[in-house]
Amino acid sequence: MSPQDGITNETEKQAQDIMSNPLLAEKAQLAHEVREQIKLNPMTIEQLSTLLESEEGLKYFEGKLKVLQCMDGRNNGGDGMAGSGILLKRDETTNLPIRKYMEIFEKRVAEGKLEKLSWHKDCGAAKLYLKQHGNPNPTPEEVNNAAKDFATRFANHLGIPVIETNNGTENHDERGIYIDATDRFNEVPKNAEQLTNGFVLSPLYTDDFEYHLTEVKVAIDIAFGDHGVGESAFTKENPFFIILIKDPKHPEYFGNFANKINELISGNEDTETKGEFPQFKDKIRIKSITPKIQ
Ligand SMILES: [Zn+2]
Repeated sequence: MSPQDGITNETEKQAQDIMSNPLLAEKAQLAHEVREQIKLNPMTIEQLSTLLESEEGLKYFEGKLKVLQCMDGRNNGGDGMAGSGILLKRDETTNLPIRKYMEIFEKRVAEGKLEKLSWHKDCGAAKLYLKQHGNPNPTPEEVNNAAKDFATRFANHLGIPVIETNNGTENHDERGIYIDATDRFNEVPKNAEQLTNGFVLSPLYTDDFEYHLTEVKVAIDIAFGDHGVGESAFTKENPFFIILIKDPKHPEYFGNFANKINELISGNEDTETKGEFPQFKDKIRIKSITPKIQ
């Protein structure tokens, strides 16, 4: 058995472990049962906000898996970053995220908040990373290798296992983004209805909100593009939602991030900044909410 086989077998075993996790098994079952229904009858941003701020909504904050995974909404139950952090600025020597980011990852591992790191095939963030680094037209194999290589080296450095999650072959069906500063949000909790599917971002991994803007941009690109539900799925009445979930203990954490997202979308006349998505501005809505958690 070559060392490579060892890694593969271990990875497969861990993938099986996570798929036998009740949270994820339920997600898979739920996904099949309700995917079509949610697509036909998605909750609006007002309905989602009201639910998440209600007593009933507390069930969406009962805990989550201690795995960092892609923000891809077909993953669930853990922390989310684009490509598990593949777009973070890298250190030239280690080719891992720069020190200021690594310190937070290491701290979360030390505190028992992060136990596994995952990667998945056909990762849009891994593809974007290659495009930004001299490979304008990467093959699917190159994309998969980039995602796996980064996650494996990163997890090895952190001393935690790396797993592959299977996102299936269905198109993206996210209708928005949940940006969770509570560290407890789980859109597919046990014994609770799945929320309308969205990308999940965990901004506590860095307060570098310029970086988080790049993740928001990737999410909008996917959702409004050919691999997502597409522009025609969004209307003024039922727009793409961006829900900033505040921690009641640290309501200041997001600062002016909502304004920054607005600028990213529509631009800013005062500073003559051009927006990335001015054509979609009536089809995207941002809302900050505060759940009733203690
Ligand atoms: Zn991905």
